[in-house]
Amino acid sequence: MSEGSISNEHQLNIAIIGAGIAGLVAALTMSRAGARVQIFEKAEELTEIGASIQLSPNATKILQTLGLEDELKKHWIEPHSVKLTDAQTLRIIAEVPIAELAKNSWGAPYAVLKRADLQHVLYQAVLADENCSLHLASSLNFDGPNRLSIDVAAKMGVKPDLIIGADGVWSSVRKVMPLTGHPKFGNYNAWRFNADLSARAHLPPEISSSRSIHVLMGAANHTAIYPADDNGNSNVIFITRDKNDKPETIKFDKAISRYDLHPNAVHMLQSATELGCWPINQITDGTWNNGRDMVLIGDAAHAMMPFSAQGAAMAIEDGYLLSKMVTDSPYLISDMLQKFEKTRKARITKVKSRTAFNRFAYHAIGPIKWGRNLVLSRKSPQSLGRGLDWLYGWSADD
Ligand SMILES: Cc1cc2nc3c(=O)[nH]c(=O)nc-3n(C[C@H](O)[C@H](O)[C@H](O)COP(=O)(O)OP(=O)(O)OC[C@H]3O[C@@H](n4cnc5c(N)ncnc54)[C@H](O)[C@@H]3O)c2cc1C
Repeated sequence: MSEGSISNEHQLNIAIIGAGIAGLVAALTMSRAGARVQIFEKAEELTEIGASIQLSPNATKILQTLGLEDELKKHWIEPHSVKLTDAQTLRIIAEVPIAELAKNSWGAPYAVLKRADLQHVLYQAVLADENCSLHLASSLNFDGPNRLSIDVAAKMGVKPDLIIGADGVWSSVRKVMPLTGHPKFGNYNAWRFNADLSARAHLPPEISSSRSIHVLMGAANHTAIYPADDNGNSNVIFITRDKNDKPETIKFDKAISRYDLHPNAVHMLQSATELGCWPINQITDGTWNNGRDMVLIGDAAHAMMPFSAQGAAMAIEDGYLLSKMVTDSPYLISDMLQKFEKTRKARITKVKSRTAFNRFAYHAIGPIKWGRNLVLSRKSPQSLGRGLDWLYGWSADD
């Protein structure tokens, strides 16, 4: 058998750069298939980054397969529905019953949880796995692909069969690979904060007290409100169109005042404390593998705009599918990397199109907005849900 192919006798040695969502899912899936995995993370500890995220059934199905559902259930909330609301009038335009659809059509829960809790559950599973070892505060030599390979091999004590770059939007692995994409500011910033019941007291009761996800759709902005716990706390993300990618130079009050929002929505936004602001960057099109032994997954390969809440879900799909393809196949790893990139690019392109469509619909103004409201209000909740079957009903094992 030639070098780089997989035989039953050879235990694969895998290096993963980055212990984010993509890297940890890849590590667990590889290890469960018998590979030996070493993860190199530059942070000294894994701390809270990124507040709450939505995890759709295409992602939770994979986490179920990895045996993590019981642990994750301690942290996540399964919202009843997604309610699309006009940010100027606070009138609910449409509702998708995601809990019911998740159970009956998509085959796994639709959940909301803190990114840090998801990472922690994955991290604990990796620590408990005898085939995985994780090196925190790890600095590698990124002066070129050969230097990286030599440095990783020296740290692992063995030449890795594959180096996976799961190191996020500012990936260093991407920089040593040919023909890759690059980060580009997406002209949007995301403001995040927690809002308790009193902060939402002025909103209509169906928004202030519910266990649903609310999307307040405004002109060139939207606000997503997620249930954060059973005590009525919510996590709020206010997404604004800005040409300026330096949040520290933008005042939050000024950002709010630029938009025509219902006064009670403004009231909730103004209640924000411990506010964080993230510029939203995406990765332009490019190659994800070096044709030999290096591949990018998750945000390192294809960070996308957040309008369909699929960045982490795609990172989970990538980590799982790559690992399945590499460990299940009798072919050369280099061939599997090409196949992985081709398969995943088709899906990522479709998700990005949906993301662009959501941005257009959420942020519509004038006649487009009235048309949107009319079309959405006439659709049945079930038909709105059916339009998402291709996304949420996806399974890597089909
Ligand atoms: C406003 C907003 C809202 C979002 N909401 C959602 C949502 O609702 N649902 C959803 O699915 N997604 C959402 N996302 C996207 C999601 O958070 C990301 O797509 C996802 O976390 C990417 O995971 P990752 O593992 O690829 O990268 P990351 O989570 O960025 O992890 C990369 C890891 O690599 C490490 N690293 C970096 N450089 C190096 C290096 N040189 N050496 C070693 N380690 C390194 C980092 O420290 C980090 O631990 C949202 C994003 C934004 C901006």
